[in-house]
Amino acid sequence: MAGILNPKGKGKTPPRITPSIKKETVKARDFLSYDTRFSCEDCSHFDSEKVVCTIGYNPRHHLKSEQEHQFYLGGTMAFCRFIEID
Ligand code: SF4
Repeated sequence: MAGILNPKGKGKTPPRITPSIKKETVKARDFLSYDTRFSCEDCSHFDSEKVVCTIGYNPRHHLKSEQEHQFYLGGTMAFCRFIEID
């Protein structure tokens, strides 16, 4: 059958077309103890009216609600490396 070849080999799971976002483990003790500032809502680059990142990143994974959802789901969060707090 003609088509795209799987570089991992026949019968193996094909690679993702888009990369998944990297999430990091967060200790529950730390999350519950500290008043943290690492979501888009805390960032200087965030336009809260339009819910966009003014330097062009997709804020979807770094919004506070999504970070909390991911934490409560599996104890991990995606942190933005470009967050800037004034
Ligand atoms: S730089 Fe990162 S944390 Fe800041 S608004 Fe953009 S996506 Fe969100």
